Amino acid sequence: MSTDPRKPGDADMLRQPAEQQPRGAKLHDNRPIDHAEAAARFIAAPEHGRMHDERLWDLRQKRDHEMHGIAEWEALRVLASAIKEHALAHLDEYLEQFEANAHANGIHVHWARDAAEHNRIVHGILRDHGARSLIKSKSMLTEECGFRHYMAAVGIEVIETDLGERIQQLDDEDPSHIVVPAVHKLRSDVAGVFARTLGTNPDNSDVHYLAEAQREANRPLILAADAGMTGANFAVAETGTFVVCTNEGNADLSANVPKLHIASVGIEKLIPGLEHLAVFIRLLSRSALGSPITQYTSHFRGPRAGGEMHLVLVDNGRSERLGMAEFWTSLKCIRCGACMNTCPVYRRSGGLSYGGVYSGPIGIILNPTYDLRKYSNLPFASTLNGSCTAVCPVKINIHEQIYQWRRILSEHNQLPFVKKTAMKVTGRILSDPKTYRRTISATDAAIEYLPRFLLYTRFNAWGKQREVPATADQTFHAWYLKNRGKS
Ligand code: SF4
Repeated sequence: MSTDPRKPGDADMLRQPAEQQPRGAKLHDNRPIDHAEAAARFIAAPEHGRMHDERLWDLRQKRDHEMHGIAEWEALRVLASAIKEHALAHLDEYLEQFEANAHANGIHVHWARDAAEHNRIVHGILRDHGARSLIKSKSMLTEECGFRHYMAAVGIEVIETDLGERIQQLDDEDPSHIVVPAVHKLRSDVAGVFARTLGTNPDNSDVHYLAEAQREANRPLILAADAGMTGANFAVAETGTFVVCTNEGNADLSANVPKLHIASVGIEKLIPGLEHLAVFIRLLSRSALGSPITQYTSHFRGPRAGGEMHLVLVDNGRSERLGMAEFWTSLKCIRCGACMNTCPVYRRSGGLSYGGVYSGPIGIILNPTYDLRKYSNLPFASTLNGSCTAVCPVKINIHEQIYQWRRILSEHNQLPFVKKTAMKVTGRILSDPKTYRRTISATDAAIEYLPRFLLYTRFNAWGKQREVPATADQTFHAWYLKNRGKS
């Protein structure tokens, strides 16, 4: 293991110049996110594309291996889904029960309607304590709230303690995956980020060297922080406690090193009782990383001795989603990332190409609930193959909800002109058998006789990366007419 910044590892000596990391979706004023454009840039970086696909497929395979080790896996999924649906159907009661019990445990409970209110509440707590620095563990909810940017604007330093999240923070990028935030980066990318921000050797991409360098740089900041922040994977109504699952123990540092602990919790995290927690703990890490359990499953009941604990229950669009007949079950999501790991579009396009806080199949469902127009391209970043639905530990009908978004976008006239026109033309062709047959014959002839430069144009999306298939000698219709009545 090399920890000397002047000595690159052997492998690095042989390394070719590193491929540039493709950046995420570009924002153009109020135009919808162009997922296809960002995905094309990711695909154009073959080292990144290959690594991303392989890493995530590896997680999917490990998940499958764990699943096959548990005979009652399907029963667990059914149970988890039922518990979540019950909790969501009685959310008002469980929230009140949780608040009362958490209060009895000595926790200050706050309610935030939206991201802005969440940020104001947390800022107020920090201001009241004279806090100037905050260490925090990974939380997608705080990403939703634009929390780091808000804190930067009010002069409070935020230090991410999860390694992947810290890499993304130092690179000024959003997480590209809800469980492994920097999974789209090669080691050489991380070496470049750390060289720029921590002063490490840019030519040394040895993982131990990089992890140690980050640890050395972060540890003093953690020890000196004025306040700590965590999210929560589950909040238990009957006990007023909450649970945080991590693999690095960083949530425990964030919660226990400073005297002030603030937890931001989405209201959908509620489960009724402790007995229900076990069902989710068995499913979560197996689905996420293919490991039986996270290294740390930390239960928080109240403030540490001499400390103070605040918990902010955040809505930020969740009540509205609860009222959406087609999409309310997306609130069952336990943020395991399994749907992302299995999705062929996500694996090949990278999480940042979705241009939203959430990416992959679950992001396609959640992002449009915040801004339909901005994320109107995302529901088309799916093959609707249903693999996401098949792996989801809480049985969310993900691909069906993605399809519902397509329908809604069409009804709201939010389809791009080209897609809308293509759909109209295709609809007419498919609804008239004669036109359909003539089109098939014309297309067959075009494929057979047109020169390549006329066939493989930029309008032929299929032919961009593959050969157009050879035409059949005979259509099924022609065969049927010829053979009907023959035994
Ligand atoms: S939708 Fe299902 S598979 Fe996807 S992150 Fe949520 S719980 Fe996991």
